[in-house]
Amino acid sequence: PSDGVDPLLDGLNPEQRRAVVARGPALLIVAGAGSGKTRVLTHRIAHLIREKEAWPSQILAITFTNKAAAEMRERLGGLLGTGVEGMWVSTFHSACVRILRREAERFGYVSGFTIYDSADSRALLKRIIKDLDADTYGFTPANTSAKISKLKNELTDASDYASTMNASDPRERIFTEIFTSYEQELKRANAFDFDDLIGQTVQLFRAHPDVAAIYKRRFRHILVDEYQDTNHAQYSLIRELTKSVEPEQLATLVPPVRERELDGLGRIPGASLTVVGDSDQSIYAFRGADIRNIVEFERDFSSAEVVKLEQNYRSTQNILSAANAVIGNNFDRQDKKLWTAEGDGDKIVGFTGYSQHDEARFVAEEIEDLHRDGMAYGDIAVFYRTNSQTRALEELLIRSAIPYRVLGGTKFYDRAEIKDAMAYLTTIANPFDPISWSRMLGTPKRGVGPMAEAHLANFQEAEGVSFHQAMERAEEIPALGPKIRTTVVELADMLARATAMALGGGVTDVLPPVEEEADAEAAEASQKKPAPVADVLKLVLDSTEMIEKLRAKRDPQDDARAENLEELLAVAREFDAQQPGAGLLAFLTEVSLVAAADDLDDQSGTVSLMTLHTAKGLEYPAVFITGVEEGLIPHQMSVDELGGINEERRLMYVGITRARQKLYITLASTRATFGDVAVAMPSRFLQEIPEALIEWRQSPGEVTGRGGTASRALNAGRAPGAGGSSGASWARNRDSQVSFGSGGGSGSAAVAEPASGNMQSSLDKWRERKRL
Ligand code: ATP
Ligand code: MG
Repeated sequence: PSDGVDPLLDGLNPEQRRAVVARGPALLIVAGAGSGKTRVLTHRIAHLIREKEAWPSQILAITFTNKAAAEMRERLGGLLGTGVEGMWVSTFHSACVRILRREAERFGYVSGFTIYDSADSRALLKRIIKDLDADTYGFTPANTSAKISKLKNELTDASDYASTMNASDPRERIFTEIFTSYEQELKRANAFDFDDLIGQTVQLFRAHPDVAAIYKRRFRHILVDEYQDTNHAQYSLIRELTKSVEPEQLATLVPPVRERELDGLGRIPGASLTVVGDSDQSIYAFRGADIRNIVEFERDFSSAEVVKLEQNYRSTQNILSAANAVIGNNFDRQDKKLWTAEGDGDKIVGFTGYSQHDEARFVAEEIEDLHRDGMAYGDIAVFYRTNSQTRALEELLIRSAIPYRVLGGTKFYDRAEIKDAMAYLTTIANPFDPISWSRMLGTPKRGVGPMAEAHLANFQEAEGVSFHQAMERAEEIPALGPKIRTTVVELADMLARATAMALGGGVTDVLPPVEEEADAEAAEASQKKPAPVADVLKLVLDSTEMIEKLRAKRDPQDDARAENLEELLAVAREFDAQQPGAGLLAFLTEVSLVAAADDLDDQSGTVSLMTLHTAKGLEYPAVFITGVEEGLIPHQMSVDELGGINEERRLMYVGITRARQKLYITLASTRATFGDVAVAMPSRFLQEIPEALIEWRQSPGEVTGRGGTASRALNAGRAPGAGGSSGASWARNRDSQVSFGSGGGSGSAAVAEPASGNMQSSLDKWRERKRL
């Protein structure tokens, strides 16, 4: 730029700048928390585009959450001053869904496939376990789904497992049967579970080099944030994508390959790969994350350039010193120390309550004080190790009229009425999925009972048609009464209309590989667009009268449900506005991938509550880490596990390093769990923080029992800003929850029925009948 100011490089230190401009085939950025890794990654992408070294469509940037992806896209827009359409900035899961939607037909799936969440997977496993009488061997949906997930993350499928198992062990044989049957049922339902998304994409690339070639050619630059938490399947995906396209694959590519795409050996060279991570922040070993991926990067990618960053720009020195002290106790790491030019800042504030309520009261009062001193609620976050810790906190926040939200709490999309409406949309996209079809048929009640459902399902299976076609042909099923036949045919008719609307021109969310941006736009314009999602949903809601039926009950809880459905309509409209022409499949994809940390809502006016895991990558001016006790952090379950304590220590390190200016560490001396009150001991991690860094408001030693803190208990009643306003807080909290979902603690969350249970029982029933 002419004025000599370069927005992409000027705000960076020399090492950061080196990472932005490096142009080798592989770059590894290893650095502690808050040292600007994510910032460097973002600037590097912007730099590649600005210098015309890549089109946006040639970039694949992988983030850990959808929220982080949205933030990165927004920053890129700001840095480049233009939109970044065509660029893939997404999680591993989202990127894989986009690929699978486009390529599904290659391996016997249909593009409208359903993505089973963990409740759906467990519902399916429950039935399989029952069919095989496997529960007598101790198999449960929970333990089998965990084991299958682990295997899938290692890219082991049922037949691989069968070939290596110990066949003389009956438990292993039965597990293999469960696993095999689970794979078959998923395929029959045209569904993938969460782990499949990545594993199947890897299989697809390996089995179809011509398909892999399309994506290898397209993505010239692959950048991965939070690389320390990749598992084997994700690692393999990256490896596949960064391989070169061999000469024999070139002929299949469209548009035809041009000379300048090739290297000296006549291949399209592999993409450049940038990975960014901090092995001290690896906290997903339980999901198969493998720290070796980052440790061994230099060996895997031999020509890799390495950049280390040490200056921290996020936190004050006191906070960093505490973080360094804690993580320094992990013996299995390379020593690196963070420093800042910011100065010491305030001391860490410590507080020990006599109970979790006393602890929560302290948190609420401090938040009020911070707020009075001018800090926005949105600048404050409260972390905890387990979700069960939120109740006491929420009670006190409500009492103090502090607006808050729970990230990753009961989700909007988990509510029964939302699942009902979503079942319609899912069955429209995938008329082979028994789970959504069954749920759709059963709600609202229309006189089609389990018996009729079983007849339809049997017909579907016998004729090899979709569930919708089976309904259309209800006249051919003599066992159905005439009234039911009419109902079912009418329903099928409505679904057919909705399907025609929804699927319009087919898949539009993946563009063909392009050389020039203009090609991309032309290609997109030439595809027919599906109808807006809101129109499809409106048709469903109107024809089923779901909202009217809830309103007619004149029950406040049903009113809230009706409002939620209206909110879903608003979400759909917003989606249509943001992604015109994307349509139902893209909408379903987005909904099914909304991850724990993902809250689409504006968070400026509310305190954020979340688990330590959810906090990764985020930063807040003020942070409370609560429940810093033995048994919570480190968690009881980690104590006996190999490396478990070290992983918990990294989690504590992640928590501490989220804070910019103010860090509070709180605990209780007694804690009630499952109705028992037990004495709680301060966490060993607390003792690893040098005493001089903490200013105790009440140290563990000062809390001797109820007597000593009676006056505090009385004080708890003096919740600032109370006096009739707690009702307003409920309303506010409910609003925030209703508007996008993962907000917390309102009454309506408690009344949501266990959805999968219902789906399961009706499924069980028709399967049961089928056997008779
Ligand atoms: P984490 O390990 O927690 O993911 P990170 O290494 O990705 O952290 P960033 O989130 O990129 O760190 O940066 C931390 C903070 O420091 C951000 O607010 C960022 O804008 C700021 N920052 C990074 N580099 C600089 C710099 N050179 N000058 C000023 N601020 C910076
Ligand atoms: Mg980061």
